[in-house]
Amino acid sequence: MLTMRQIRKATPSSIFGNHEYSRVVKMSRGRTKAGARFVRALTCSPWDNNGFRRANPPQYSTSVVVVGTRAKKVAIKSAWLMFDYIKCSCSCPYFTFYGCEVELWKRGAADIYYSNGKDPIVRNPAERPWACKHLLALFDKIDNHTL
Ligand SMILES: [Zn+2]
Repeated sequence: MLTMRQIRKATPSSIFGNHEYSRVVKMSRGRTKAGARFVRALTCSPWDNNGFRRANPPQYSTSVVVVGTRAKKVAIKSAWLMFDYIKCSCSCPYFTFYGCEVELWKRGAADIYYSNGKDPIVRNPAERPWACKHLLALFDKIDNHTL
């Protein structure tokens, strides 16, 4: 079980540099049939590696679902971020191939949906449960809203 804050902390600084270039195109929130709060979004990276604007950037489906809450909760703006355990997902290749999904899944913070569930020996040998830049952009959006 991990909070958004813990996932942010585990994420390497190289991805933090990139996440400013990701945009949340559309965001909606609600509750699942079981009553869990969720946010889902369409995200994209409007600029290519050379800093040029892409004509038609691919859009990814990015989501966060709350699966539990720590016992202690205080009324602050970012309570969602600090005290709620989440499961998250993104349909981008980075999330699948850099072991984000597998490592988050091992800690109960994701479901295996896009990847094959094998350890990311080459691209994430330290087995850190990190997020992709789209999820970081969505975390920022959630941080700025009261959910
Ligand atoms: Zn992503």
